[in-house]
Amino acid sequence: MASNPTNLHFVLFPLMAQGHMIPMVDMARMLAQRGAMVTIITTPVNANRFRSVVDRAIKADLKIQILELQLALAEVGLPEGCENFDLLPSSAHAVNMILAMNLLEEPAENMLKVLCPPPSCIISDGCFPWTNDVAKRLNVPRVVFYGPGCFPFLCIHVVTCTNILEEIDSDSEYFVLPGLPDRIEVTKPQASTWGRGDTKETTEVFERMLEAEKEAIGIVVNSFEELEPKYVEELAKAKGKKVWCIGPVSMCNKSFQDRAERGNKAAINAHDCFKWLDSNESGSVIYVCLGSLSYASTEQAIELGLGLESSNIPFLWFIRQTSEEFESWLSKEGYEERIKGRGLMVRGWAPQILILSHHAIGGFMTHCGWNSTLEGISAGIPMLTWPQFAEQFLNERYIINVLKVGVRIGMEVPVIFNKLDESKEIVKRDNIKEAIKSLMKNDEEGEARRKRCMEFAAMAKSAVEEGGSSQHNIKSMIQAITEELAKKPTRVQDIM
Ligand code: UDP
Repeated sequence: MASNPTNLHFVLFPLMAQGHMIPMVDMARMLAQRGAMVTIITTPVNANRFRSVVDRAIKADLKIQILELQLALAEVGLPEGCENFDLLPSSAHAVNMILAMNLLEEPAENMLKVLCPPPSCIISDGCFPWTNDVAKRLNVPRVVFYGPGCFPFLCIHVVTCTNILEEIDSDSEYFVLPGLPDRIEVTKPQASTWGRGDTKETTEVFERMLEAEKEAIGIVVNSFEELEPKYVEELAKAKGKKVWCIGPVSMCNKSFQDRAERGNKAAINAHDCFKWLDSNESGSVIYVCLGSLSYASTEQAIELGLGLESSNIPFLWFIRQTSEEFESWLSKEGYEERIKGRGLMVRGWAPQILILSHHAIGGFMTHCGWNSTLEGISAGIPMLTWPQFAEQFLNERYIINVLKVGVRIGMEVPVIFNKLDESKEIVKRDNIKEAIKSLMKNDEEGEARRKRCMEFAAMAKSAVEEGGSSQHNIKSMIQAITEELAKKPTRVQDIM
């Protein structure tokens, strides 16, 4: 049977966190560009963040829509409007959020039952194991999406499916993660930040996710095969599943507007931002952004500010959230006046992929979230790695030890996400200054690093072009879904 995507209706359930929603919205448009109908199901606050990009897609004749469901926030003790992990009052509320997400099962199923045309496939975040049950009841295949690439995913698999962490006593000693194609060394805390629960509740959540994953027909990953060929293969073996790398999905954003309005309203006018960058030499600026969930404590933000200033390298620094103490330090010091001309500090959301595409950017200080990692690679920009939590320390290993496209800032101990002022480890201004200088140097090492970056960027570009590996993998995924549907007699009419 020919797999014709125009006969398919994909229903996407993105997790309410920017690092998961942003790539899923890109994925939605990529599927719609192939002629499929796509429905994204999310909550009102999240839907509003993507309204303009989806409206533009609709204007461009893509068959795409957003449908809204309400989270039962009051029922789980969360404040009104708290519909995304970046809006949680503290990390302790993450469990409440998961409980609220679990309560979506029934309303989501009711919504899907009356959807027209009926869904032919659910692509849902791994954190929504209940979508597997809904898919079974509706007799449609489910494809699972997590967020991280194949390398961190395989590392997490090793950590969660073996007893390796029980064998390690020390929290500071590095040990080798067993069974990986490369020699990867991590500390116990760096390896234990995702996939293992620390309470009965969270352990159950992760167990349920794994059980649901077993029944998915495959795993779709925002990565490209050439970036991590050994890990794509090993992950597929370890999970016993098809793994489709269809990224970097960020590269589907071709227009200035799509790149400027990705994920949130930017805190700076994109044209003003470009104007500022235009006034700098090619490859001279370091762009600083630590993702959608990280906080810097006041002490850390001050060290970062002073480190950037003393490096003498032009910088564009986006800071997600500032404390009152930090604001009063800034005004007492006259910091923003002092850096004028050489540095620009912006409070809020960065138009990240637009910035990374500007020729003035020569370095990217990143928290190593998988999306940011991939976006840095796609833009061919060397990275200064400052992991914080989740699988970010694993991603750092890949950037530094395997791809050799970055320099470490020297962060050792993970912090707890969303916990302002509770991080114990402070990276000092001198370390920051030295790391920036080392990254931006034009010596032999720096040149070799830049060359490797450009090579990976070229591979990323080819992967998403017609005939490239990611295009091939989207087709394979669609083919597999079509074949799966054909096995389900009650659904055959939907794909004929
Ligand atoms: N992002 C952005 N502007 C910001 C912060 C983040 O555009 O100010 C985007 C970034 O481009 C990436 C996503 O948000 O696509 C963050 O995902 P990532 O996996 O890098 O990290 P997370 O925020 O999930 O920790």
